[in-house]
Amino acid sequence: MITQSFTMNAAISATMDAAIDAILTSNPALWRPGGIYTFEIAPNQLPPSSPTEREAKIGFSGMPPRRKREWRRQCRPQQQEWKFYYHVPDARRFEALIHLHFRLHGAWIPPKRCEFCGVRHKEKFNLARCGEMDGIIAAFEYYLWRLNWLSIRQVTFTLISTMSMLVGKIVNLLERDLTAQRLKI
Ligand SMILES: [Zn+2]
Repeated sequence: MITQSFTMNAAISATMDAAIDAILTSNPALWRPGGIYTFEIAPNQLPPSSPTEREAKIGFSGMPPRRKREWRRQCRPQQQEWKFYYHVPDARRFEALIHLHFRLHGAWIPPKRCEFCGVRHKEKFNLARCGEMDGIIAAFEYYLWRLNWLSIRQVTFTLISTMSMLVGKIVNLLERDLTAQRLKI
């Protein structure tokens, strides 16, 4: 069972429930599998105007390892810490859900001009307000669970807990391929 490591008031809960329902009632034939990645931008590389604000970029890509190379090339010599990405059944919808979650929790950072490449990067979040990288992972896992996009970890947990449930889950996986995987990057 996934436990929430973040708080949600009634208004945020209702908004997120509606967003989850919108995905669950969308046509799976239109889903596009891909990766949702996040990387931390080291504080000593941030502009002087925000010396203590550590940032996390959260984005999606059909090929996260290639996107990582592009980011590193584009914003060189920005110090980026990449650790993992989740391969999910629909990367764009999942990313939108995660962005909404952290916006509602006041973590969104308005785009500002990148000191390295000059672009106004979007989709950046205050890492402390996200609950650090652990908070981001917790949100990923929580919404994967809400969408019934089983992470590999949950399948393993199911294996040792309830055999009858496992059979149902495996059938589900084979039929709909709703697995999500956390991968190193
Ligand atoms: Zn840049």
